[in-house]
Amino acid sequence: MRLKLKFEFRITLIYLLIGFLWILFSDRLLEIGTNNPYSLTRLQTYKGWFYVSATGCLLYYFIKRHLIKLRSAEQKAKESDRLKTVFIQNISHEIRTPMNGIIGFSELLKDPDLDEDQKAKYINLLSKSSDQLLNIVNGLLDISLIESGNQKINNREFPLNNVMDELFETARPSIKEGITFSVKKGLNDSDSKIIADDVRIKQVLINLLNNANKYIEEGEIIFGYELKGADIEFFVKDTGIGIDSNNQQKVFDRFYKADTDGDRLFEGLGLGLSICKAISGMLGGQIWLESEPGKGSVFYFSVPYVPVIKHPPRKARNIKKENALGEMTILVADDDEPSLRYITEILNRKGIRVITVSNGIDAVKSCRENKINVILLDLKMPGMSGYDAIKQIKAICPDIPAIAQTAYAMSMDRDEALSAGFNDYLAKPFSKEELIETISKYKKN
Ligand code: ADP
Repeated sequence: MRLKLKFEFRITLIYLLIGFLWILFSDRLLEIGTNNPYSLTRLQTYKGWFYVSATGCLLYYFIKRHLIKLRSAEQKAKESDRLKTVFIQNISHEIRTPMNGIIGFSELLKDPDLDEDQKAKYINLLSKSSDQLLNIVNGLLDISLIESGNQKINNREFPLNNVMDELFETARPSIKEGITFSVKKGLNDSDSKIIADDVRIKQVLINLLNNANKYIEEGEIIFGYELKGADIEFFVKDTGIGIDSNNQQKVFDRFYKADTDGDRLFEGLGLGLSICKAISGMLGGQIWLESEPGKGSVFYFSVPYVPVIKHPPRKARNIKKENALGEMTILVADDDEPSLRYITEILNRKGIRVITVSNGIDAVKSCRENKINVILLDLKMPGMSGYDAIKQIKAICPDIPAIAQTAYAMSMDRDEALSAGFNDYLAKPFSKEELIETISKYKKN
């Protein structure tokens, strides 16, 4: 192990060592030099001067190098401090706004005199505010995962053209009215089967599309990709407000917002593009932009093109239909009443019998007493956690598939749950479709 001495110790040691060596060896010079006392005194003086200048130069060099490091660290700390202050101001605003919508519309929905139209309108706004809040939480989670090095890339085979079509369909309803929206695919369907991380590619594109839609008033948004050499180059083009050249690099910094001085304040924490940049790097590519204020922007990002080697067509697999759940009994354990109600509601509508419990001890008991097809266990519950409960459940009935459901949505939590004995994992909040799809995997014919 290398011993790292503090700067002040190192510099003093070097000084003493040089002094010691100089005294030891320079006296030899005097021995061979002369016996004349006058010349000896002169030599001693030169020796002293030499020592002082040599150590002075060395000290200057070392102290300067050390100070450069300190000053740059201080600069970084100051900038980070400034960005943190901006971030805290922003986050308070960004969280309060959707919370206001959620609390406000939940209250309004309690009114028994509301007609169906009003109800639908409020529910729609409530769901918009919830999505906005979830985006903020996800952004914060992503940036902390990236910074702690826990963001993983999972490459797999997927048809890029299908992903682009899906994205187009999902983004279309939220594009502002009057804006022309289109998608361009640069490869035919069979060449578009690639190996990459589709989830991360979608995440970057969604971020860029959200920005394009946020900073546009009229014109068009086009997104798509082209094959450029060995890379797939994705682009998102808008005819929005654009970004001036001073800000074009800075927008990729964390918490940086280019539009803070304008008369209109746009929502956002200034995190989206820094996440996109980090993800592009992890995918083995780059991100950059071209923009002109008042005319619009084009954001590009590249990923290496790794086509899937074509195999002869395989027999179609027997894919289970989501609706084919039929007669199943599912045990759901969760200490959070709304979560329990949400899951029960979805499953009941699919004709599934649901047994609900609110802690691990009751979950184990229920497994002993009932014939259960699938178990859905929350990981964090009072009394007995999902981790402890699964051990006991697997000892009683090892064949019942168990799905962990939790708000701890980090990739290591997933790994931990799977190694604790769970067969699958659902991160909260999950959609109706995600829940049904996960359960369908364990339906026995
Ligand atoms: P934010 O949440 O603020 O949108 P981003 O990191 O996504 O955070 O973007 C950083 C800044 O870059 C934005 O605040 C905005 O000023 C600028 N920006 C991003 N995309 C666009 C765009 N398509 N057109 C104009 N400005 C943009």
